[in-house]
Amino acid sequence: MPTIFSKIISGEIPADIVYQDDQVTAFRDVDPKAPVHILIVPNKEIPTVNDVTPDDEQTIGHMFVVAKLVAEKEGVAQSGYRLMLNCNRDANQEVFHLHMHLFGGRPLGPMLVRK
Ligand code: AMP
Repeated sequence: MPTIFSKIISGEIPADIVYQDDQVTAFRDVDPKAPVHILIVPNKEIPTVNDVTPDDEQTIGHMFVVAKLVAEKEGVAQSGYRLMLNCNRDANQEVFHLHMHLFGGRPLGPMLVRK
């Protein structure tokens, strides 16, 4: 079964795609937590960070290049932004297709609240 993100990447289901090439697709999160909330996703289905292999190094590095381009395009490069990846249960990962969140457009506060 393709992941929901694979269906977005292939065009099977709609999304607001802001960038796409042969390795990476970036689209707006359907439930944004900040004025700018974009998901940067490898076109290859990698379930979690735990599944990344040395063969994925180029693609993972490319995700950062795309993050930089998207931040510039969205006008948050200078004001600042946060990149975040969730892995498995304690991080509340919901979609098991690796993705980097890009948040920006407002002060984002501390990274985590201590409990
Ligand atoms: P995570 O908790 O890191 O797995 O985040 C998954 C993210 O995917 C959440 O922020 C969701 O709002 C987002 N999401 C789920 N389905 C879609 C969709 N169809 N289009 C855009 N974003 C989605």
